[in-house]
Amino acid sequence: MASSSLRFAQPTFPNSILKTKTNTFFVSKNVFPTPVPNKGKASNAHAITKLACVNKTTEIAACNQIIGDVNAKLTPLRIGIIGFGNFGQFIAKGLRRQGHFVLATSRSDYSEYCKQNGMQFFRNMDALCEEQPDVILVCSSILSTENIIRSIPINKLKPDTIFADVLSVKQFPKNLFLEILPPGFGIVCTHPMFGPESGKNGWNGLPFVFEKVRVTDAGTQAEKCTQFLDIFEQEGCQMVEMTCEEHDRHAAGSQFITHTIGRILSHLNLESTPISTKGYKTLLQLTKNTVSDSFDLYYGLFMYNVNATEQASIF
Ligand code: NAP
Repeated sequence: MASSSLRFAQPTFPNSILKTKTNTFFVSKNVFPTPVPNKGKASNAHAITKLACVNKTTEIAACNQIIGDVNAKLTPLRIGIIGFGNFGQFIAKGLRRQGHFVLATSRSDYSEYCKQNGMQFFRNMDALCEEQPDVILVCSSILSTENIIRSIPINKLKPDTIFADVLSVKQFPKNLFLEILPPGFGIVCTHPMFGPESGKNGWNGLPFVFEKVRVTDAGTQAEKCTQFLDIFEQEGCQMVEMTCEEHDRHAAGSQFITHTIGRILSHLNLESTPISTKGYKTLLQLTKNTVSDSFDLYYGLFMYNVNATEQASIF
């Protein structure tokens, strides 16, 4: 039986081609031997040294096994969260669940919280950016976002850093990112359609809207973007790819209306009764969900979505 040996030198990035005498395998994700916590820089020289392939079938099986193994060992992302309030902390827990590193900065001091939850807190954006995270995830209030983004020391970041945001309005951060960020930076606008209250029992089945506004077709940035979006897919979110413009149209007719009605109801001081109907319980839950969000959030939904302003004219 003919046997061939396959030697993997240091795989070339961003994509590696595994060549055998009979087959060529394309590894579409970064190949790192083990997750390396320090700044995502890993030596993959020892990733795979030798694979003996006995015949074509076993060769394919062995290669698939290796591809599976190395994909399972992707280097965790280092995600820098800017704005570590209610939602920033909530999403950080999910990022940690998926094995990624969370670095955070915020106007307030959350260093104690971070220490207790295996995250790193930085007192200002300069210190955070010096760490050169793979992804900068903006979780600030809609109203403060423009000032925040304009004051990020972009020159301290890697030129292929991915910028993402979670703002509940989407055209606004998209335009801001496109205006401010140098061309090499990736841009992914997202809106998890859930929060600390509606997502407290897990994210399974909850919609996650995203638009890859500017991401390279291949290479490290494309792979890191996929890895970032995979976090939400792995958590069971319903992944919805749509443009920021479409999102804002839909959100004005649904989310903004929900928040508005919830806030109106909150002024009626509704209380549970021994004979509450299902409909009434839904109203109570709606009120609870909406008032747990800050007024800044609601104000941002109104002020920064042109469709919401039009929608408000019906009231
Ligand atoms: P929020 O009131 O919209 O934002 C609070 C965050 O903004 C905190 O990190 C706060 O920092 C920061 N912030 C507020 N004013 C600031 C200022 N003048 N300068 C600097 N930072 C300022 O409440 P949130 O619920 O945490 O929402 C954060 C983002 O997530 C928003 O963009 C929102 O649209 C989005 N989002 C929220 C939900 C949700 O269910 N809550 C769901 C999806 C998306 P400090 O805490 O340090 O003061």
